[in-house]
Amino acid sequence: MTLSTQKSKMLFERALRVIPGGVNSPVRAFKTVGGDPLFIERGEGAYLWDVDGNRYLDCCGSWGPLILGHSPSEVVAALSERIENGTTFGAPTEIEIELAEMVTRFMPTIQKLRLVSSGTEAVMSALRLARAATNRSKIVKFEGGYHGHSDHLLSKAGSGLASLGIPNSAGVPAAITADTITLPYNDVQTVEALFRADGNSIAAVIVEPIAGNMGCVPPKPDFLPALRQLTERTHSLLIFDEVITGFRVGTGGAQALYHVSADLTTLGKILGGGLPIGAYGGRADLMDLIAPSGPVYQAGTLSGNPLAVAAGIATLKVLSDPKVYERLERMGNQLEAGLTAAAERAETPVQVNRMGSMFSLFFTNRAVTDYSSAKRSNTAEFARFHRKMLEKGVYLPPSQFETAFLSAAMTNSDMVHIIEAAESSFQFIARKE
Ligand SMILES: *Cc1c(COP(=O)(O)O)cnc(C)c1O
Repeated sequence: MTLSTQKSKMLFERALRVIPGGVNSPVRAFKTVGGDPLFIERGEGAYLWDVDGNRYLDCCGSWGPLILGHSPSEVVAALSERIENGTTFGAPTEIEIELAEMVTRFMPTIQKLRLVSSGTEAVMSALRLARAATNRSKIVKFEGGYHGHSDHLLSKAGSGLASLGIPNSAGVPAAITADTITLPYNDVQTVEALFRADGNSIAAVIVEPIAGNMGCVPPKPDFLPALRQLTERTHSLLIFDEVITGFRVGTGGAQALYHVSADLTTLGKILGGGLPIGAYGGRADLMDLIAPSGPVYQAGTLSGNPLAVAAGIATLKVLSDPKVYERLERMGNQLEAGLTAAAERAETPVQVNRMGSMFSLFFTNRAVTDYSSAKRSNTAEFARFHRKMLEKGVYLPPSQFETAFLSAAMTNSDMVHIIEAAESSFQFIARKE
C-alpha cells in the first residue's frame, strides 16, 4: 500500500514559493526521511488527519506538548471560555498567578517563575540570568542537547541540526559561542576534568535531564548527581532544561524522578497545553534579579498570554491525577516490550530507548547513551521505517534524532497497532524491498 498524498504535495509546492523550505520549523520538512511533509487538516484525541484524508496515530504530539492528545475537552472548554473575554491585554491577569502557583507546587525548586512565549526564550533568559547572578560568562552544554535556537547554544546541538547534519548554524559570530563549552552527554569524567581546570569561570551548566533531542537518551545514574555536586562546589548554577520533560515524566519533571534539584529550570511545550508558552524559574533570590525587581532585563508583549495560560492550567489540572502518568507508563512498558520482541523476530538490530511516554527506536546494534552513539544509527533504515509506519497509519517524528511521544488519549490497542506496524516495517526493511 502506498499513501495517497496528492493534496499535501500540491500544498508543499505552493508553500515552497512563499515560506523558506516550505515549513515554519526545519524538521517538519521530512528532509531526512525522504518524501514531502504531510499537511495536517485536523487532530482529535490520539489521531491526526492529513489533507488527503489519511488517518494516523499521532506519536509526534506536536513535538511534545500534546500529552493529553488533540483538543482534550478540558482545554477546549477553558479556551472557549477565555476567548470570549479577550485574547491579550499586556496587563497582569489572575490566571497567570494561578499557573505560577501550580508550577511552584509541582516543582518545589521553582520558587518564582517568569512566563515567556517559547522554550527558546525561556532558555535564553535563564542564561542571561545565570551570567548576571554569577558574574561569569562560560556556559557548559552537552552534545546533542537542544535548548532552542538562540545564538549561544547552537553548537553541536540536537534536534533539527542533528537531523540535517548541521554542526553549527551560519550567522552566529564565533565570539558569541566562544563562551559555550560543549561536552559529551552522560560522561562524568570530562565534566569533572573541565571543572578541575576551569570551574570558577563557569556561570552555568545547562542540561536536558533526560535528553530528548538526539532521540530519547536517559541519564546514567551518576550523571545528574555529578553535575549537581560540581556546580555547587564551584558556585556555578545548574539549569535543567525541562522544556520536554517538565510534566512529561511526572508533575515534578525529571528533577523529581531523579531527586536532583536544579537552581533554574526552563519549561515550555506541555506547560502551554498546545499553545505557545515558555517559562523559567528557580530560587527566589535568583529570580528577583529580573526586571523590574532587579537589573536583568527581559520582557515580552505576549508573555503570559491568557489563552496559553488557560490551556496550560487546564492541562496541568488533568495531569495532577497521578493515574494519568501510571497509565502512560503502563502503555510505554507494553510498547517497549512489544517493539523489542518484534525487532528480535524480524532480526532487525534496534535499540528501544524509553522513559515513561518518551521513546526512540535507534537503528543500531549498540546501546545509545550519548550523541556519538546515537549518530551510529542507520538513518537510511530509519527513513524506510518511517515511511512504512506512515503507510501503516502511525505518524512518528520524521527524524532518527527526535523523541516520539505517547499521549493519554491512546489506549492499549493503539500500542498493539504500533507494535504490529513496526513488526511488518522491520520485516520490510530486512527484505530490502
Ligand atoms: C523544544 C525545546 C526547546 C525550545 O522550545 P521552543 O518552544 O521550540 O522554542 C528548548 N529546549 C528543549 C529541551 C526543547 O525540547
